[in-house]
Amino acid sequence: MDAEQLRHYLEFYQDLGVKTLYRRGAAPAAEAPAVTPPRPEPALMQLPPLAPSDDTLLKIVEDIGDCRRCGLHEGRNKIVFGAGNEKAHLVFVGEGPGADEDEQGIPFVGRAGQLLTQMIENTAKKEGIPLKRDDVYICNVVKCRPPGNRTPEPGEMETCGEFLYRQLSAIQPKAICALGGTAARAVTGHKEGVTKMRGKWFKWREIPVMVTYHPSYLLRPYNENAKREAWEDLKKVLHFVYD
Ligand code: URA
Repeated sequence: MDAEQLRHYLEFYQDLGVKTLYRRGAAPAAEAPAVTPPRPEPALMQLPPLAPSDDTLLKIVEDIGDCRRCGLHEGRNKIVFGAGNEKAHLVFVGEGPGADEDEQGIPFVGRAGQLLTQMIENTAKKEGIPLKRDDVYICNVVKCRPPGNRTPEPGEMETCGEFLYRQLSAIQPKAICALGGTAARAVTGHKEGVTKMRGKWFKWREIPVMVTYHPSYLLRPYNENAKREAWEDLKKVLHFVYD
């Protein structure tokens, strides 16, 4: 390799970000070392548009308006925005409204909702924590009922997720409890099944997130073990927030 070739060779590898091809003072390597091409930038996680810094639940409701951003609006009766204390220290996130919620415009008022209310109030009472359903905030990933209670589609979750994130951001709770796999995926970004994620802490922006089973799952017969586990998860999150 003559001097000119060596200069090109060094410039070429310097362009690739390879600073030292050979030890100082040593002769250049006869064979060019394998250069791992730079990794492509990991796809940037898509963040929802920035919420106004002085965001409030009222502004979010106004921005949702008579929403037609996704197909779910076609079958809905009422938008189910969320309910509870705007200054709650704990927020429960479910999947999406069912028939009763669509009818009343309030989250978790059907059978699963009654179970959730009992779980919150009875567990808190047993643990010596004075807490009622109205003290927490309850909402869903999607605000309109998916037809036949099907799981919301990724596009629907993404569109409505913007409003969920704004709700969480405006409330700034001490912790979030994700009910079931859909909520867990939407809030933590993790894709594992709920059985693997439950009982563990994750984070949504700096806020701790506890994942547990969805109350509808607990209503199915022969789920005694899952019920016990859900109660344990709830105890964990209640003590974390209210002790
Ligand atoms: N299931 C949910 O995920 N949310 C509700 O509001 C009711 C049932």
